Amino acid sequence: MNKHSLSLADVSQAYWFVVCQGKLWLPQAEIPFGSWSEFGLTEPEQLCQIGEWQQQPCLLAVYQDQLSVPEHWQSARALLEHPQSHWFELAARAMQFALFLQTHRYCGQCGSAMRLVSWELAMLCPQCGHRTYPRISPCVLVAIRKDDCILLARSNRHKPGFFSILAGFVESGETLEQAAVREVEEEVGVRVANLRYAGSQPWPFPHSLMMGFYADYVSGDIVCQPNEIVEAGWFKPDELPEIPPVQTLSGQMIRYLQQEFDKAQ
Ligand SMILES: [Zn+2]
Repeated sequence: MNKHSLSLADVSQAYWFVVCQGKLWLPQAEIPFGSWSEFGLTEPEQLCQIGEWQQQPCLLAVYQDQLSVPEHWQSARALLEHPQSHWFELAARAMQFALFLQTHRYCGQCGSAMRLVSWELAMLCPQCGHRTYPRISPCVLVAIRKDDCILLARSNRHKPGFFSILAGFVESGETLEQAAVREVEEEVGVRVANLRYAGSQPWPFPHSLMMGFYADYVSGDIVCQPNEIVEAGWFKPDELPEIPPVQTLSGQMIRYLQQEFDKAQ
């Protein structure tokens, strides 16, 4: 069987990542395992392998039209708090690849129908040879420290009372460090230096790769960017507002700084 593109007849048992319109099929709040015929679903429009888990294939099945039982279709976020983190990671891959298939059916160069490549996760145009890969959008997270405070902001996407560290997309031709410094200055008007890499996390909403940095405050007063940041401020580690969960990179970075402050006391 081809590693990536295949037909249902090739598969006996697998973990199934069934995706439709940005939602994942989680009939028992878990990724279903078994043979396709057990599930009573119609044949998917696209089928390919996205990985393996414990020697079993992990397959992506994509539908364009929503199927029945809407409560079985959930955001991949539902797996973020799953005790085994690999399910969120595989779901992230499935969601991003499903979106890639959906948005690359035709060649961006000559307009012909694209084909799924059998040996790698890519789409190939049989007419002109143009090849595309799933899009990944690099995004920096910056946790800024000033004395014994951390800068947290509430973006216009967050409910009142919920704060996080700053985030922004990397622009073409920019290093991660340049993007971090620029985003901080744009979003809150503050200058930072001494960036230290914290870690990374794929974030499939829809195709970000989060890369975190700790930074030290240098100068400037907080001035929130209109239409982007609703409020921002310096928070002491024992007086934090509601922050992202520990499964997210931003949540981990805030908690790491909190521990650093505790150690220093
Ligand atoms: Zn083409």
